[in-house]
Amino acid sequence: MSVSYWNDQSEGQKLYFDIAIIGGGITGLSCAYWLHKEDPSLKIALIEKYELGSGATGRNAGFITCGSVEHFNRLVGKHGASEALEIWRFSEKNLDLLKQEIIQDHSEQLLFEQKGSFSLASTESELKELKDSANLMRSLSINIEELDEQDVEKRLGARGFTGGIKYCDDASIHPISLLNAIRNKLDKNISFFTSNEVHLIETKGENKLVHTNKNKIEASLVILATNGYSPLLHPFFDTKVFPTRAQILTTSPVPKFMEGPCYANFVLDYFRQLPTGEMIIGGFRQLQKDVEKGYSDEITDTIQKALEQFLRDHIPNVSQAKITHRWSGIMGFSVDGQPMVGAVPGDSQMFFCCGFTGHGLGLAFHSAKVLVDGIYGRCIPNFISAKRFI
Ligand SMILES: Cc1cc2nc3c(=O)[nH]c(=O)nc-3n(C[C@H](O)[C@H](O)[C@H](O)COP(=O)(O)OP(=O)(O)OC[C@H]3O[C@@H](n4cnc5c(N)ncnc54)[C@H](O)[C@@H]3O)c2cc1C
Repeated sequence: MSVSYWNDQSEGQKLYFDIAIIGGGITGLSCAYWLHKEDPSLKIALIEKYELGSGATGRNAGFITCGSVEHFNRLVGKHGASEALEIWRFSEKNLDLLKQEIIQDHSEQLLFEQKGSFSLASTESELKELKDSANLMRSLSINIEELDEQDVEKRLGARGFTGGIKYCDDASIHPISLLNAIRNKLDKNISFFTSNEVHLIETKGENKLVHTNKNKIEASLVILATNGYSPLLHPFFDTKVFPTRAQILTTSPVPKFMEGPCYANFVLDYFRQLPTGEMIIGGFRQLQKDVEKGYSDEITDTIQKALEQFLRDHIPNVSQAKITHRWSGIMGFSVDGQPMVGAVPGDSQMFFCCGFTGHGLGLAFHSAKVLVDGIYGRCIPNFISAKRFI
């Protein structure tokens, strides 16, 4: 966004920091966390347009899942077995790091549960892909279980599915509580600038000058943690990160009946029951792909009705429950479905960590750690490195 002369409140002294992070979602806070851990003396500015968690981080379904946006057989088809396994283990490590560093013994406050997640098939062709995936995963010692139609109905209360896979180590959480838990680990060396929208980043001598509507912040390094919004801040992302809307709804609580969170229809649709009984369901952007591109976080009748219909058709236990909330958020889909971590080509002071393609809870904490590794000259795995685009 541009800022008019009349609205520009950024007159006055410049503020100086070592590092300016733009974006107050899980990625921005995770970058602050790992930088602080690397060097507690660093002065860090975290700049957010609205409030912390107002982007996708505060609007998602709370699944912490491994792998990526597609079934494992397709991941192997694209990357080969060895890199597909590396991608899987990378996200497993994300969960391990979250548990060790942040969740610790606060599971209950964060509504954290590690009960696995499920991918369900409603067609024979998807069931075949899930079976192929199961065979590949077993051969690579990934912890899974196969389910038939009766298992799905009995353990998940879901009808109309021919079978599925359980990914035994996946988890779920309250995403805003997780964000607050990361924030609580940060200290006074991290300054938060909320309600500050960045509209310009200039090179100023040896430093970067970040202009917001309220402040001018000078720093020797800038990190873009703006996921789906990244193309609005730098043209490098125009052809690499695509803002994609996701819509969702929740119901009033019903007695617990589901063993764990579920994906359906090639990971496009998803539903889970919270530990407190509410049902969350999201997806169906495939019904209006073009409308779901861009930055508007409206909801639409077409998708909201499809979500309700799905509940009536497949989850009888909630068909009578009241819908309490409906919302949407903007995800950042990367061009190859994998996160993007590194420095903007030709600008060694401008770093980024984005492109989570609808799976930021399963990837961002570890990706931010790897970005900090990169800043300190350590290695970034090829499959998430920005170098794959050069
Ligand atoms: C409906 C929905 C359901 C989802 N479900 C899941 C799920 O169950 N599991 C999962 O892993 N992932 C899920 N996701 C995806 C997940 O939420 C994202 O991958 C993750 O939150 C990305 O975090 P982030 O910090 O990179 O981006 P964001 O949380 O989007 O944060 C980016 C921040 O940058 C700020 N910003 C942007 N431009 C500027 C600017 N110019 N100046 C200052 N600040 C700026 C934004 O306001 C925003 O707060 C879902 C997403 C949606 C929308």
